[in-house]
Amino acid sequence: MPEAPSFRAIYRARRLIAPLVRQTPLLPSPQLSEQLGVPVYLKAETLQETGSFKVRGAANKILNLDQAAQRQGVVTASTGNHGRAVAHVARELGIPAVVCLSERVPEAKVAALQRLGAELVIEGEGQDEAVERAESLSQSRGLTFVHPFDDPLVIAGQGTIGLELLEAVPEPATVLVPLSGGGLIAGIALALKSVSPATRVIGVSMERAPVMYQSLQAGSPVTLPEEETLADSLLGGIGLDNRYTFPLVQQYVDEVLLVSEAEIAAAMRFLLEEAHLLAEGAGAVGVAAILSERVSVAGSNVTTIVSGGNLSLTSLLTVAAEA
Ligand SMILES: *Cc1c(COP(=O)(O)O)cnc(C)c1O
Repeated sequence: MPEAPSFRAIYRARRLIAPLVRQTPLLPSPQLSEQLGVPVYLKAETLQETGSFKVRGAANKILNLDQAAQRQGVVTASTGNHGRAVAHVARELGIPAVVCLSERVPEAKVAALQRLGAELVIEGEGQDEAVERAESLSQSRGLTFVHPFDDPLVIAGQGTIGLELLEAVPEPATVLVPLSGGGLIAGIALALKSVSPATRVIGVSMERAPVMYQSLQAGSPVTLPEEETLADSLLGGIGLDNRYTFPLVQQYVDEVLLVSEAEIAAAMRFLLEEAHLLAEGAGAVGVAAILSERVSVAGSNVTTIVSGGNLSLTSLLTVAAEA
């Protein structure tokens, strides 16, 4: 079993993935700053070429494979954004990629994967089944499985966001991070707390099937049935055999907040209208927590990761029409 990720691994990742990943802007939000009475910043990962931060972890994992393994190809399972990231990186490097998806993944995300040239395998009701399928294909075809979150190299790749934050805000006080499997928050928390232990790192999930939240309550990984949510990129389990993200989240994450569907929709509208950012539900949960006054301000600034912006025009219009 590979070692848990380290702060140094995040630095190594940053250099390695730089050619494939954008350093995204950290945008001040005047409206949210006024609401909270301290500067509030939005880290716009929606502006990655693939529309979400997941390109960071995927690039770090794939670039660490030796040439023979790269030539053989990679396989993954994904609710969309991770699959898109793996397909994008594979295409940039000229290597084969197979993506396994559940039948619940929205059509817009499936079409985007097809355009990226990945071989798609669509099967099963949920994320856990898609992961099983990818693991079996990895065995039978000699492909390297790229896990969406529970891999030290993926976690280190996502952690490069933490390094960018530390350069832009030398003493981040509170950082809100969308939370599903925990790769994003584990990497960011590891980077931040290694340098700035006083920084509060807060996870935000949706009220509907928040698996990491329930697992933390239970003291070990649990499973929950998936539910319809605007934050569809946060759906899926953390794995009953979780190795890395669950213990890292237990160790480094200060708190996890939950937000409702109405709050997510309001945050999506706010980001579009006021910040001119197109965020999907999962990307908007941090702003939802701020707007709904769930975040207590202790310290001199608040940053939220706007983690992704991949959504269909149809869902965007539905959300916009509810206002
Ligand atoms: C995957 C994803 C997340 C959650 O990341 P984890 O590492 O699974 O916690 C948040 N937002 C978006 C847009 C995502 O695609």
